[in-house]
Amino acid sequence: MSTATPHLPHTVTATMQAAVFHGAGDIRVETVARPTVTEPTDAVIRLVATCVCGSDLWYYRGESDHDVSGIGHEALGVITEVGDTAAGSLQPGQLVIVPFAYSDNTCPHCEVGMHTACRNGGYFGRGALGCQAEYVRVPQAAGTCVPVPPGHYCMSKIKDLLALSDVMGTGYHAIDAALVKPGNTVAVIGDGAVGLSAVLAAKMRGAATIIMLGSRTAARQQLAIDCGATTVISARGQEAIDEVLQITAGIGVDGVAECVGTGAAMTTAIRIARPGAVIGRVGLPHDAPIDELYTFGHNIGVRGGPAPVRAYLDELLAAVLDGDLQPGKVFDYTTTLDNIAAAYAAMDTRQATKTLIDFTAGNGITTTV
Ligand SMILES: [Zn+2]
Repeated sequence: MSTATPHLPHTVTATMQAAVFHGAGDIRVETVARPTVTEPTDAVIRLVATCVCGSDLWYYRGESDHDVSGIGHEALGVITEVGDTAAGSLQPGQLVIVPFAYSDNTCPHCEVGMHTACRNGGYFGRGALGCQAEYVRVPQAAGTCVPVPPGHYCMSKIKDLLALSDVMGTGYHAIDAALVKPGNTVAVIGDGAVGLSAVLAAKMRGAATIIMLGSRTAARQQLAIDCGATTVISARGQEAIDEVLQITAGIGVDGVAECVGTGAAMTTAIRIARPGAVIGRVGLPHDAPIDELYTFGHNIGVRGGPAPVRAYLDELLAAVLDGDLQPGKVFDYTTTLDNIAAAYAAMDTRQATKTLIDFTAGNGITTTV
């Protein structure tokens, strides 16, 4: 129960346009109820930009179940409504980054930086918490929303900021989980947007050699190099393992960012890790067993899981605002919500690395807040 702060920046209607998942390969834009504040800790944002995630493709391809409901979990938006509790720290009109998991940022798990295990937390991406929509309700808003300083942000910066809601923080988590240190040799498995973000993160952490595995298209390989990869290997499986061992004089790499989640990717990660190395995994495992005897025999660690993006956001936002980090370069396809079905199809067919849904045109939102 709450009364919303009635400081709406413009007239809003009771409905909105939102992407609705109807089944494999079937994403539609429909008129649905516009979310409102339902708990005092809530806020509602009007989207400035959202995107399609590689993990949305698991649903799109029918490989994971999803309700017939709203979808999408990445959001950059302007606050339109805040509940009484959230009003203590957030105001309508603020531009905020919303990580794909909401969290109170105060519980014992959040205190140690594991926000995706928040005792009061949860995930965006279903029903009224679908972010591929004009508005989204943000639970635990004070802990979840990270305000961006007022200013003018061009589309390039909007892309950088949106990338912080998931993909950049997830790539960073893989590198953090792999305990990458300055001077290390690091392998990144997966040339999707998360893998490319892991390359950026490895560079931030001072890795000396960054090997991107599994990249087969020239455009994607160039993007990996632009992000900081020092070597790109197009081979997969045993051939890729052999190439990495050759590059590292038979030693293996100091850390692996596993950004795919398949059994083949995990096997490659384990076989290229040097004894004592840690694999940071952020790809949702789909039939990806860990070889217990090999990892035991070689003292190889496996860490990682859903990225606690909120834990990294202050550091990553500062790097973006300083111009030291440009994670928005993973977006190579931009469209509007009306065309979101095409945005999914472009990613499904690998014509796009990551598709951005732009709400800034024609709906009264400007990029100056
Ligand atoms: Zn918490």
